[in-house]
Amino acid sequence: LVDAVNVTKSFGSNVVLQGVDCHVDRGEVVCLLGPSGSGKTTFLRLINQMETLTGGRIYVDGELVGFTERGGRLHARRPKDIARQRARIGMVFQRFNLFPHMTALENVTVAPRTVAGVDAATARREAMELLDRVGLADRAGYYPNELSGGQQQRVAIARALAMKPDLMLFDEPTSALDPELVGEVLGAMRALADQGMTMIVVTHEMGFAREVADRVIFMDGGAVVEDGPPEQVLGNPRHERTRAFIARVR
Ligand code: ATP
Repeated sequence: LVDAVNVTKSFGSNVVLQGVDCHVDRGEVVCLLGPSGSGKTTFLRLINQMETLTGGRIYVDGELVGFTERGGRLHARRPKDIARQRARIGMVFQRFNLFPHMTALENVTVAPRTVAGVDAATARREAMELLDRVGLADRAGYYPNELSGGQQQRVAIARALAMKPDLMLFDEPTSALDPELVGEVLGAMRALADQGMTMIVVTHEMGFAREVADRVIFMDGGAVVEDGPPEQVLGNPRHERTRAFIARVR
């Protein structure tokens, strides 16, 4: 579903990604690990076109992201085209960035209503199903400031799912939560993985990576150091840098 080929990204003279290759099959759950500043967030933002590539290519479902190719040359996509591509990707951030003036239900219905043109009754029914899936059907009428961090993050997951994405990107979804709230969010993510969602998850939660990921990618210094099944990358890392990182976060 996702094919990143020799992806590079620089901010001015700061080279953040230097030739990242990454392939994610439909239905796969891939955990992305690595020290702070290794480029994990930037990589997710490139897939979702919140940043533009410096070099290389990213394909989602065979379609080149951000550009079209004509006569061997790349041309920037039109905004409408970019919006269409982005609608297929759901993203959940570290900070639960729900709309504060909207209830949980309204947060989940707003994109289907305004972007996809879904009628109010359908959007409401589908949103209630999604809130139920993340265990929050009884909180539909609550505002974000009336919900715990874990509940807000689960609403954020339901909101991302409302556009029926092919791919879900998670950027350290539990790292801003109190420890006792981490489990409920990881539980919702695990359920989603069990239902066959394709997911790329930046996380420091080793237990989640070990139990839920099909593959673990370890990044350092803007490059992929190691890519393999969790039992290999976490249990028997080939590289000293991976070993040192795992020893530190454990
Ligand atoms: P963390 O775990 O701390 O979020 P990360 O692995 O996700 O780290 P990135 O957030 O991708 O790393 O950042 C990689 C590098 O890119 C950092 O050195 C950061 O300062 C730089 N960077 C990220 N975004 C920008 C930006 N918009 N402008 C300039 N530099 C940026």
